[in-house]
Amino acid sequence: MTRRAPLIAITCGTNAQDAEATAAGRAQDRLNATYARAVAAAGGVPVILPNVGAAEAGLERVDGLLLSGGLDIAPELFGEETLNDTVEVDAPRDATELPLIRAAVERDVPVLAICRGIQSLNVALGGTLYQDIPAQIPSDIAHSQKEGRAVATHGIAVTPGSRLAEIVGEAMQVNSFHHQALRRIAEGLRVTATAPDGVIEAVEGTGPRFVLGLQFHPEEMTAVSEQARRLFAAFVEAARG
Ligand code: MN
Repeated sequence: MTRRAPLIAITCGTNAQDAEATAAGRAQDRLNATYARAVAAAGGVPVILPNVGAAEAGLERVDGLLLSGGLDIAPELFGEETLNDTVEVDAPRDATELPLIRAAVERDVPVLAICRGIQSLNVALGGTLYQDIPAQIPSDIAHSQKEGRAVATHGIAVTPGSRLAEIVGEAMQVNSFHHQALRRIAEGLRVTATAPDGVIEAVEGTGPRFVLGLQFHPEEMTAVSEQARRLFAAFVEAARG
């Protein structure tokens, strides 16, 4: 019996990649190439979901939802005022993504949430964020690393018995490109990995379906990390249903 390759919708940002487009006020829907390539390499069929507002109807036609990285969630969406000028938001994306996440969880669509994705997952389900790690969490770990995208710069400790531990084991070296982090965890999620300074690096759904949030970027590490490849393989497998 042949099995249909699962269709994976990937969210994207509206922040322009190039200065010329930004200066011209030209709106874009764009995504770093590594997400779709990692999905394809794991046997999924990637499609990029543009920021058109209500997108929940599309969930009936896809087998999995990948929430990609990007700019910050607007603080008012978790009941706070903006802390400082490090916070950079993407309003059209918030308007598309948050209702989409709630619908995906409600409909048991497998979700892999990366970087901004773990943050939007938590906020969509009622949690909160630290808006700026350097200002709010004393730490000697640089979560906004200067090293290359594939370079691991800090470790994470994974909760034994968790879905994440089943996939990658109880320790992993990860990259780090985030200035925000999860604070109060939404109902329906639980923390399953932390950095040595206590920053939350993974959450997962408490239910039986695949809902996995990662603060690091496995899509940037697939060439150098078997654990990163296993994360995409597990997600695509879950999307096969
Ligand atoms: Mn980190």
